[in-house]
Amino acid sequence: MQIQPKASHFIDGAYVDDVAGTPIAVVYPATGEQIATVHAATPAIVDQAIVAAKRAQKQWAAMSGTERGRILRRAADMIRAQNRDLSILETYDTGKPLQETLVADATSGADALEYFGGLAGSLTGEHIPMGEDWVYTVREPLGVCVGIGAWNYPTQIACWKAAPALACGNAMIFKPSETTPLCALKVAEILCDAGLPAGLFNVVQGMGEVGGSLVTDPRVDKVSLTGSVPTGKKVYAAAAAQMKHVTMELGGKSPLIIFDDADLDNAVGGAINGNFYSSGQVCSNGTRVFVQKGLKEAFLQRLTERLQNAVIGDPLDEATNFGPMVSEAQLNIVAGYIEKGQAEGARLVSGGKRLDQKGWFLEPTVFADVSDDMIIAREEIFGPVMAVLDFEDEDEVIARANDTEFGLSAGVFTKDLTRAHRVIGKLEAGSCFINSYNDAPVEAPFGGVKASGVGRENSKEAIQHYSQVKSVYVRMGDVEAAF
Ligand code: NDP
Repeated sequence: MQIQPKASHFIDGAYVDDVAGTPIAVVYPATGEQIATVHAATPAIVDQAIVAAKRAQKQWAAMSGTERGRILRRAADMIRAQNRDLSILETYDTGKPLQETLVADATSGADALEYFGGLAGSLTGEHIPMGEDWVYTVREPLGVCVGIGAWNYPTQIACWKAAPALACGNAMIFKPSETTPLCALKVAEILCDAGLPAGLFNVVQGMGEVGGSLVTDPRVDKVSLTGSVPTGKKVYAAAAAQMKHVTMELGGKSPLIIFDDADLDNAVGGAINGNFYSSGQVCSNGTRVFVQKGLKEAFLQRLTERLQNAVIGDPLDEATNFGPMVSEAQLNIVAGYIEKGQAEGARLVSGGKRLDQKGWFLEPTVFADVSDDMIIAREEIFGPVMAVLDFEDEDEVIARANDTEFGLSAGVFTKDLTRAHRVIGKLEAGSCFINSYNDAPVEAPFGGVKASGVGRENSKEAIQHYSQVKSVYVRMGDVEAAF
């Protein structure tokens, strides 16, 4: 099977290549087979992208928001029309089951383009009366924005960054993860076919150093990263050296708190969604599942029963609901954490083994009797490993849930809605859920607090992070001066 793209990069409205760049093998995670090769961007390719973006941005910003929005909404419709093909590509890129990619990837990207396309015409400033004088504000684009993506949602991440950036009148250069370079090229091609002028959405491939060279280029005004906390710290520091705007969507070790009075099946369903969707490779996952003591045994029993319904195998078979890890490297990292969990004395309730077949398959894994100080309860694993921890009362669980450097997400399951709101109010997290887990509609702000991030994606909040406000004082009378 070969899914070779037309070229490695998409710059100034066209596919381009420079085979002098380091080759990057694209591997289908379900078989380990190489399906394509792309080349990392050379400095000349990076320069070409920045020159194109800088040139195109000024004209784009001069168009009306309604005109910009129309193009984004057309791209959304085209993505929806091609959803099956794009979903199959996403499955090849990531290994995620087609059952998921058909509903969670290109469709989520289309939602972002449609939503921000709709907002583009309404991005206005304020009129502030000052007696006979007044101040007015203008919302201006930032200029050239760089997007750097992780490998778990390559289509969605490209669209979540491109849509608000373009709606606000910016240009974007997007660097996908080297693990999943294919999908963003398709997004670029569709935006171009929808009428986006050349140079406004460019894709350059490469490893961290290509991302690094974009971040430090003085012609770049903003960096939006989706990645791990260590990478985020490096990229944030490099951007700060030139006082650039940033959005940091980073990792987590989020708490999911299940009280005794919760609906058992809903709570188990939330824990499954929050740990095993996309084989656990989701930043907002609720991987520390705190279960109140009275419900613990029933929860573990029902969870174990429902895990029997996991269909692990060929991701292109729509009956499959649990796919492989994205890469052998990620599989080894996660397997290492499973060993650590066992060595630390956590009780392995389910899974834990690599499947004896080709591809990077690992069983959905559950540990019980996990304590707060265990490595599997402290570090982001980014794989299908759920840690179940016991708790007795509300104050105790809130303190333990907050005892982490991360703050991306948090969830609470209880039938007592007063308690649900009280507890959510005290949890240190940016994206929270009550009697649900991991919903991420474009209308809701998404992002973390503490080490999990800076800024928000999606919703009207994202507009703040892709534009800046100019204020203009207008004097109607004479100027008074001391001399
Ligand atoms: P990494 O942090 O390893 O990489 C993220 C991106 O940054 C990749 O494109 C990578 O390139 C690039 N990069 C690495 N080093 C640098 C650098 N010094 N300068 C500029 N760019 C650099 O994350 P993963 O790809 O492994 O993704 C998993 C992580 O992403 C998890 O921690 C997860 O929680 C987080 N994530 C956060 C989300 C959120 O919205 N909060 C959503 C999804 C994932 P390359 O890999 O090609 O070398």
